[in-house]
Amino acid sequence: MGGCDVGCVWCDVKESWDASNHPLYKIEDLVFNIQQTPAKLVVITGGEPLMHNLDALTSALQAAGFETNIETSGAHPLSGKWDWICLSPKKFKAPIPNIPSQANELKVVIFNKSDFLWAEEYAALVSASCKLYLQPEWDKAAIITPLIIEYIKQHPQWELSLQIHKYINVP
Ligand code: SF4
Repeated sequence: MGGCDVGCVWCDVKESWDASNHPLYKIEDLVFNIQQTPAKLVVITGGEPLMHNLDALTSALQAAGFETNIETSGAHPLSGKWDWICLSPKKFKAPIPNIPSQANELKVVIFNKSDFLWAEEYAALVSASCKLYLQPEWDKAAIITPLIIEYIKQHPQWELSLQIHKYINVP
């Protein structure tokens, strides 16, 4: 989804920020296009997808038999029907207070050492069943990944998350 007002300094998709730079599609066309692929599950991300009301899109996707997942900073009100919610909170614009408790997965990007403490603040707000992931910021991955691995050894409730789409060169 085009559009994001969170403003992460290390954002790797800054071209997504201005929604007007991206074309609009009819929901029925989006669903049709996805039906031409082998996909069973649709992940809606951005940009910040919750800048849009996602009720109609997710209803149409679920009616067509797709699982719906979202990846969001949580900085805007939750809309849509979801089988899985990945909350990736950002320091630059905090999540709306009622969103962390609804997350199935908490994914915190680690840019510097202080982000571990910040990650724990959010881990205290999610449900007991919520998966916990730490992900190195891409440009600092060589420095940060070993720190995350050491942290996980001491705090095994956390798992390592990697931007696999970048390793396998999927946009
Ligand atoms: S929330 Fe995501 S898209 Fe928006 S600025 Fe941060 S990293 Fe970029």
